[in-house]
Amino acid sequence: MKEIFFFSNNINKINEIQNIVSKKKIKVLSILDFEFLKEPVESGISFSENAKIKSYFGYRKTLIPTFADDSGICIEALNWKPGIHSKKFLNDFKKMDDCFNYIINKANMKSKYKAFFKTSICLTLKDSYHIVFEGRVNGTISEKPLGKNGFGYDPIFIPSENNKTYGEMTKKEKNSFSHRSIAVNKLLDFLN
Ligand code: IMP
Repeated sequence: MKEIFFFSNNINKINEIQNIVSKKKIKVLSILDFEFLKEPVESGISFSENAKIKSYFGYRKTLIPTFADDSGICIEALNWKPGIHSKKFLNDFKKMDDCFNYIINKANMKSKYKAFFKTSICLTLKDSYHIVFEGRVNGTISEKPLGKNGFGYDPIFIPSENNKTYGEMTKKEKNSFSHRSIAVNKLLDFLN
């Protein structure tokens, strides 16, 4: 069975990726299979640049074909931010609900409710061999945080053509069409 390393310290992402790939003939290794590897500084100015920094870093440490994802939410009422700064933006609030309420208030004040999630996955097969796969899901900001599933901004994001947030969906439902699964499925098609 082919082995590939998914380099991330985010256990939620590792679980999502393992679930998406579970029925394929590929074994996805994670940091749980190695000693703890620190993540490099994400100094890129786009999701794809940051994904490449992480996949190349993981490849150099393990010499196993490595992929990494960089993802985040872009919100119309915040001028399409926080984008690549999604993790820091959320962590800068004392409580997640404070962040969610801040976003919902901004959306209400401006009557701008659009948002999208984006994932860039970079696969590093060897030195100077990097390929990027992208996934995006459009949606809206919910009236209030709903649902206890998922992670990060899931409770305030309603994907288009749905009437519930990512946070209200089961893992299986979210993984059936999420931004991350779109990008992972492109990666799997490539590997096949
Ligand atoms: P990074 O890609 O590790 O830099 O993290 C991006 C941040 O975006 C995460 O810490 C989450 O807060 C947020 N994020 C990324 N993907 C998702 C998702 O699928 N659901 C909810 N939040 C997400």
